[in-house]
Amino acid sequence: MSLLELDDLSVTYRIASGEVPAVRGVSLKLDSGAALGVAGESGSGKSTLAMALLRLLPRDARVGGRILLDGDDVLAMKWGRLRAVRWAEASIVFQGAQHGLNPVQRIGDQIAEPLFVHGQADPRQARKRVAELLEQVGMPTWRARSYPHELSGGQRQRVMIAMALACSPRLIIADEPTTALDVMVQAQVLTLIKELIAEQSISLVMISHDLSVLADVCDQLAVMYAGRVVENGPSREVFHEAKHPYTRALAAAFPTVGDPVSRLAPKGLGGDPPDPMDLPTGCSFHPRCPVALEECATLDVGLWPAGDRRTAACVHVRAKEEAS
Ligand code: ADP
Ligand code: MG
Repeated sequence: MSLLELDDLSVTYRIASGEVPAVRGVSLKLDSGAALGVAGESGSGKSTLAMALLRLLPRDARVGGRILLDGDDVLAMKWGRLRAVRWAEASIVFQGAQHGLNPVQRIGDQIAEPLFVHGQADPRQARKRVAELLEQVGMPTWRARSYPHELSGGQRQRVMIAMALACSPRLIIADEPTTALDVMVQAQVLTLIKELIAEQSISLVMISHDLSVLADVCDQLAVMYAGRVVENGPSREVFHEAKHPYTRALAAAFPTVGDPVSRLAPKGLGGDPPDPMDLPTGCSFHPRCPVALEECATLDVGLWPAGDRRTAACVHVRAKEEAS
């Protein structure tokens, strides 16, 4: 059985000027112990998807479809069960640690908090566990007494990871965990994440706009565009032999992990992603697509089989599939 299964997940924000379809019919599976990367430019619905997984979305968000975590329907869970699941079964690391850390609380106390919330430790056990967690994320134990402003960006992100690990969850969701860091630190934090999930057989959903980062860390890659998955498959293959023109453009824009030049000027991808409230007809990517056909303006073909364990949503993929 999959540890995580999304079945036709959709999220629509209702705002004063109308509806924002941020995630549109996403189906994905993640095996226990595996790492799934979710890629896509800013605005493609990645964070919305991440927050939906633990029902952390704002009230104005309407969620449809199904989210199964270890067979349990997350959207149908009562509050008590959901509270037990957060941290203890699945936890989230956000971008740049700006959401997560309290500026006026020592980091040791912050790391210990989920342990207390879930009744997993008394104060003495918590101190021990905090020291162990700090060691695991490569920080000296005396750092438990520090405040967030005394740490570098990379150290703060390590603290966020320690918090996420505190209750020994089976799944960690990491939303752009290294995006705010400089290249060297980014590489160190990525190595840390890779080691931790391998050692502790934790499953990972990692989100990034940088395809090379995801290809480095994850087994499987899903590429999102305008709220949909447009390509999905084993990560190295998706990165090196993309089937969807959008994935090809993303792979060209981020050829190597954390490359500062490509971060400043993503190559090969003209224009901007569409506004979800004003999506193009047909294939949402067609106005930017270098290989679009006339029919792409009216036809959205959806995901087609594109080789072993691979799918892609493109007329060219469909044409090949139909010819074979
Ligand atoms: P990503 O993480 O890929 O950058 P997001 O999930 O943050 O994408 O956003 C997807 C779309 O949903 C964007 O168009 C964004 O403007 C919109 N959006 C995100 N949060 C909200 C919200 N709370 N209310 C209304 N629209 C939102
Ligand atoms: Mg985001």
